[in-house]
Amino acid sequence: MDYKIGTNYNGFVLVREENIKEVNSIARIFEHEKTGARLLHMENDDTNKVFSIGFKTPPEDSTGVMHILEHSVLCGSRKFPTKEPFVELVKGSLNTFLNAMTFSDKTIYPIASQNEKDFFNLMDVYLDAVFYPNIYKTKEILMQEGWHYDLEKKEDELTYKGVVYNEM
Ligand SMILES: [Zn+2]
Repeated sequence: MDYKIGTNYNGFVLVREENIKEVNSIARIFEHEKTGARLLHMENDDTNKVFSIGFKTPPEDSTGVMHILEHSVLCGSRKFPTKEPFVELVKGSLNTFLNAMTFSDKTIYPIASQNEKDFFNLMDVYLDAVFYPNIYKTKEILMQEGWHYDLEKKEDELTYKGVVYNEM
């Protein structure tokens, strides 16, 4: 397919195109007209297909909320309302890479697969997770991933629990 600078493709306008010899790829930068989101597309003959979506998530305090949020959006979404779609993907997909990472100022959700159908499915699950997470409907998700008090029997001592809390 031939792309033209300034043309809108499914809501994304092509801003720049360059042949990058070192990695045998044509790189294209698009900008989403509605949101200003930037899209980098690398076209080449590699059988590996990689996709990642990232957000600027500078923290406002030291509660770890951006890391908790990263986990929480992968706990069910509009199209994939299961409790742990991420865990199911890890088990049931042909992915060659699947993860999510929170850095000091950004959060990214990368996936990779050599199988095209699997690749598009992974992308679908991740995009639905980040744009339509169930955290708005189910407040327990944030508690489960963040921290909560835990008490099995009333004579026990009160402890803290939480997925990200334990991870850190
Ligand atoms: Zn984590």
